[in-house]
Amino acid sequence: MAGAISLFLSLYIRVKAKDAPGVKPYILVTLLSSIFTFAYAFELASTSLKEMKFWLGVEYLAMPFIPVYVLFMCLEYVGRKIKTWNYALFIIPITTIFMMQTNDLHHLYYKSMNINNEGPFPLLKLEWGPWFYIHAVFLFVCLTLSVFVLLREYRKSLFLFRMQILLMVAGFISPIIANYFYLNDWSKGIDLGPISLSIAFIFHGVALISLQMFNVAPIARESVFESLKEGVIVLNQNKVIVDYNKAALFLIPQLSNHHIGKSIADVIDDPILKGKLDEELEFDYTSLLEDRAIHFRINFTEVKNKNGVQVGKIITFMNVTEKVQMEAKLKQLASLDGLTQVLNRTFFMKKSEMLFDDLMLDGGNISIVMFDIDYFKRVNDTYGHEAGDIVLTRVTSIVKEKLRSVDYMGRYGGEEFIICMPETTLMEATNRANIIRQAVAESLTTFNKVEIQVTSSFGVSHALLEVGEESYSIQQLIREADQALYAAKHKGRNCVEYYSTDELLLQI
Ligand code: GH3
Ligand code: MG
Ligand code: MG
Repeated sequence: MAGAISLFLSLYIRVKAKDAPGVKPYILVTLLSSIFTFAYAFELASTSLKEMKFWLGVEYLAMPFIPVYVLFMCLEYVGRKIKTWNYALFIIPITTIFMMQTNDLHHLYYKSMNINNEGPFPLLKLEWGPWFYIHAVFLFVCLTLSVFVLLREYRKSLFLFRMQILLMVAGFISPIIANYFYLNDWSKGIDLGPISLSIAFIFHGVALISLQMFNVAPIARESVFESLKEGVIVLNQNKVIVDYNKAALFLIPQLSNHHIGKSIADVIDDPILKGKLDEELEFDYTSLLEDRAIHFRINFTEVKNKNGVQVGKIITFMNVTEKVQMEAKLKQLASLDGLTQVLNRTFFMKKSEMLFDDLMLDGGNISIVMFDIDYFKRVNDTYGHEAGDIVLTRVTSIVKEKLRSVDYMGRYGGEEFIICMPETTLMEATNRANIIRQAVAESLTTFNKVEIQVTSSFGVSHALLEVGEESYSIQQLIREADQALYAAKHKGRNCVEYYSTDELLLQI
């Protein structure tokens, strides 16, 4: 029966799961086991020593290879490739066969071979020689290694695969016990090996049929899960880490195998990240890695079983650093004027409106300075448009140097610029405008070895807002600065004028 079961499993799996990992050694090992078992049955049925020795010889053509193929099956099953040097393991079984077949010449395998007629039926009575022990230890080591290989994979595997691996491991218990019994001579000379092997392969067969052992092999998990660019952490319903992939280490570098089975909250140090993960809502998170900011977009997906009951949660996080940097760069580009690299008009207005809104709530001073280069058309006409551009760039850089860190400047149009000076009185703003005017007037721009000098005219406006005052607007302030600038031009240029409600425009 045991032989028939092994033969059936061999054929069945050959048809059902030909190309899955681990299947080729499985087919071989069940076939070898079947030969071994049938030959052993014939040995048990034999009555003369000659017959028994013949069938023992047949057994030994198949049996010594079984442990190696079992090990290969387990290695392939967990996704490891059988390397060329692994085939060196065959030295032992080949030597075993040689030793066994030539035993009559040296008695190194069996010291003696007799027939024992004391039991209910005649049995071979064998006295083991030194090589037999090598063979037995080799068998034991191969089976133990196989279990070890499976258990190592068990730690890393998802629940679904764990069931398969447990079934595989359970299969190995019977041959290991049988081997132990036989070596200690507790089975009264009957080798339990063949029967125990077919029991093992039944386990594997059950695993194969019910859970498609070889089809949903861990190898698929390895390659898909591990090659994901997104970091993935799988939690069960108690927020205990069940699995994670390599990419998860970007966010949580301290994550390691012994955290599997621990609560996610115990693994993470950063209280902000911990709190956000607890909320289970999509969020963006920035972590510092060697002084570089890395941005993550973190998502949560519920894992439900067939009945729709939530059994866990998958946390995925994507590294969005490049995207964030690109967005920041685009935002910066969109906010600046291409030629002078000061804020463009749209962005200046947006920023000032926000500032003004705050000011209306809290109250305080604000000043606006507008300036326009004098007779700029002449620069263009005399030296060309390109020279005009260079003068514009030079003037803005001179102005920037004279601004405080709270001030900011925008290009209002053509060669007209605007400066916002928060928390600045009219007096302070007019003084600063005058410093700028002087600096511009004293500077020279060299273009094609020609030195170009320009002056500029300034208009200043100011507001002192009460807390909650809403009667003012940034647009009004700009209009007033513009009027003051117009007055400055009218006055003869290269001067600063400020706007006053009593229509008194004072020249500084
Ligand atoms: P004023 O302001 O003193 O009254 O005289 P103006 O000659 O400067 O007169 P206006 O402000 O009307 O002329 C602006 C000129 O600036 C017109 C335009 O050709 C030139 N301009 C505007 N933008 C640019 C620019 O980006 N590059 C160059 N080269 N010229 C520009
Ligand atoms: Mg001008
Ligand atoms: Mg102008």
